[in-house]
Amino acid sequence: MTERISGKTKLIGLLGTPISHSLSPKMHNEAFSKLGLDYVYLAFDVGTEQLADVVKGYRAMGIRGCNVTMPNKVLVKEYLDKLSPAAELAGAVNTVVNDNGVLTGHITDGTGYMRALEEAKVDIIGKKMTIAGAGGAATAICIQAALDGVEEISIFNRKDEFYKRGEQMVRDINAKTDCKAQLFDLADLEALRNEMMASVIFVNATSVGMEPLVGQSVVPDVSYLRPELIVSDVVYVPAKTRLLEMADEAGCTTVNGLGMMLWQGAKAFEIWTGEEMPVGDIKELLFKK
Ligand code: NAD
Repeated sequence: MTERISGKTKLIGLLGTPISHSLSPKMHNEAFSKLGLDYVYLAFDVGTEQLADVVKGYRAMGIRGCNVTMPNKVLVKEYLDKLSPAAELAGAVNTVVNDNGVLTGHITDGTGYMRALEEAKVDIIGKKMTIAGAGGAATAICIQAALDGVEEISIFNRKDEFYKRGEQMVRDINAKTDCKAQLFDLADLEALRNEMMASVIFVNATSVGMEPLVGQSVVPDVSYLRPELIVSDVVYVPAKTRLLEMADEAGCTTVNGLGMMLWQGAKAFEIWTGEEMPVGDIKELLFKK
């Protein structure tokens, strides 16, 4: 690594908390190395309180870009100059690029998720999806799914600060796409059961299942699952969340968050470097046991 670092090495950061579990540094540094690009990717444990100062630092130091993750994806757009159309619609950003002091926010999670389903040979176009979550990841997925032609989306969130965001997302999807979206309280278990039963796929797009909520699931028990249901989790550490264990028990097809992580990263990589990520090599690195 020291051989790679020069006086011109460009920095890409990851801004979020908790962050130490992230596979992004491994993924991007490996890709930079493979292509001989003079970049380095580092993770910074940054929460919402430090975010404004960190973005100021980006401008002052001319840092090339970053990924933004929990809990900063929504807030960060306040500090940027421009948003891509998808980031504007999703109201969230996971990738920032600094072009000579102009900071532009993009969202690559939604396309990454849909690409991961495609790779897993799961087709949800023209069908119904039930999803838990109304944060950055959930919004990106719902917006992209609606744009790509998913027919109906039922969104469940607990009554926290993200619920209002869910209401706005539902209004946007219903107004701007052909998809029909509805929001429910995650505590309404009868509705959760009914909507899941009527769907081809259930997605967990909350942070339940990852540290510090490892071993927990937004679905109360296995009776909500049936073998025909595809069960997908955006969490990828652990690779098998409690939800996916339950889905295995019920005989469902499962898709974890690794594919989404790979493809959202590939798109971000292209935004910073203008080069295509060597996805085959990186996949081998991330997916090997
Ligand atoms: P966020 O902070 O924007 O949203 C958090 C969401 O989780 C909200 O909907 C919130 O209501 C919900 N939530 C939190 N604690 C909960 C609890 N105890 N019970 C029920 N709901 C709860 O975060 P985000 O950026 O949307 O990230 C959410 C998850 O998605 C994280 O686990 C993150 O690691 C993962 N993620 C994965 C990828 C990937 O590429 N696989 C990409 C982005 C995010």
